[in-house]
Amino acid sequence: MTVYDVCIIGGGASGLIAAISAKRTRPDLNILVIEKNDRVGKKLINTGNGRCNITNIDISADHYYSSNEAFFSFFEGFSLNDTRTFFKSIGVLFKEEENGKVYPYSLQASSVLDALRYECERLSVEIHCSERVEKLEKADNGFKLLTNLSSYTSSTIIIAAGGAASDKLGGCRDGYNLLKQYGHTCTALYPCITAIKTELNLVKALKGIKSDVNLTLKVGKNKKSDFGEILFTEYGLSGPPVLQLSQMLKGNANDAQLIIDFMPEYDFDDVISLIKNRIKSVHEDKLENLFIGMLNKRIGQAVIKSAGFLLSDSASKLNEKEIRPIVSKIKKFQLEVTGVRGFEYAQVTGGGIDISRFNSDTMQSELCKGLYACGEVLDITGDCGGYNLQWAWTSGYKAGLSAAKSIKR
Ligand SMILES: Cc1cc2nc3c(=O)[nH]c(=O)nc-3n(C[C@H](O)[C@H](O)[C@H](O)COP(=O)(O)OP(=O)(O)OC[C@H]3O[C@@H](n4cnc5c(N)ncnc54)[C@H](O)[C@@H]3O)c2cc1C
Repeated sequence: MTVYDVCIIGGGASGLIAAISAKRTRPDLNILVIEKNDRVGKKLINTGNGRCNITNIDISADHYYSSNEAFFSFFEGFSLNDTRTFFKSIGVLFKEEENGKVYPYSLQASSVLDALRYECERLSVEIHCSERVEKLEKADNGFKLLTNLSSYTSSTIIIAAGGAASDKLGGCRDGYNLLKQYGHTCTALYPCITAIKTELNLVKALKGIKSDVNLTLKVGKNKKSDFGEILFTEYGLSGPPVLQLSQMLKGNANDAQLIIDFMPEYDFDDVISLIKNRIKSVHEDKLENLFIGMLNKRIGQAVIKSAGFLLSDSASKLNEKEIRPIVSKIKKFQLEVTGVRGFEYAQVTGGGIDISRFNSDTMQSELCKGLYACGEVLDITGDCGGYNLQWAWTSGYKAGLSAAKSIKR
């Protein structure tokens, strides 16, 4: 039986970079990646709508969340520039797009995965797919791993098993459970970067409509806004600004409202003037038709109804006092939040294994020598925009490097 020096559980973003950094650091070591899916990087090829938002030029603490306040020290030692240099070394050039989002120049997530796979192949990293690690035991000089197919021994272990989000692409709780066996604790997990469920009476009629809006999520006294295209669905709202803001809910809908501004380029008084002018100049008098060419027809109808008018009411009879509630609905269309879509639809898991018992330089457990962890399994979650992959690159690279360096022979 081969005795491995570094065994990596999980062949996703953080596991593959960990394997490469370990083998580059010590080419003489036997490195094994065990992946339960039939191939590595299944989640990675689906990132960024198939384009892979690989990182962001603004990697700062403001874009990350953790229950440990000192979490940003974990980003030291492998920065954005190191990420760029690393990917350049395997042939992936970067292209920057809006909001600092960085993609591979090819705009293909598959090319990022191919480049990582080819580098693993070049370095002779051993990869076993369709094999799930079920047990991890301490053994003489290291660990014994039991999978559904075999058993292995390894001097060091890197848990790169990801989080609970998106089970179809490999998401599961194995990583949390394996680490808990060694005394690590897990904070509450919640679906993150996911669609938001809302009250349905107003939304149902809008199903399928997309609209560029300014969206505000209010949770208790806190609020945050984002601009972009939302999609009305049978359960509530989806689309980039919704996913971005969903982080704030931490899986909990208590006292939360979404407020939609359907005309963000115009202020309240501008919209009042627009409507007054329309009433004067448009021949058709039914309120139902007042917003033609201004708002999506069904959105216009929802605005009228929620402001307390009938679609058949006469527009020309409205005075300014009556126009104001209509404009309020255009600028502040409010929906009660009832929940978020679950882990199966979420891109990322919020929360995770408490990082306070890990060394921020090496990613090694302080509770179990030779045990390392990286990526989403740990309690560091990023905003939508390349931040979660950057965490996978940073933590995976550091874990691989330090596990390899720890092997004495
Ligand atoms: C649809 C989608 C789009 C996304 N887009 C972006 C984006 O554009 N930018 C961004 O920054 N982030 C994005 N993310 C988030 C990002 O993909 C993850 O945060 C990142 O992949 C986490 O890396 P990881 O290595 O920790 O986990 P993963 O990439 O999930 O890898 C973990 C691997 O471990 C394997 N595994 C688990 N348990 C076991 C076991 N017991 N034995 C063997 N193998 C096991 C899993 O099958 C999986 O392949 C997206 C996520 C999704 C779902």
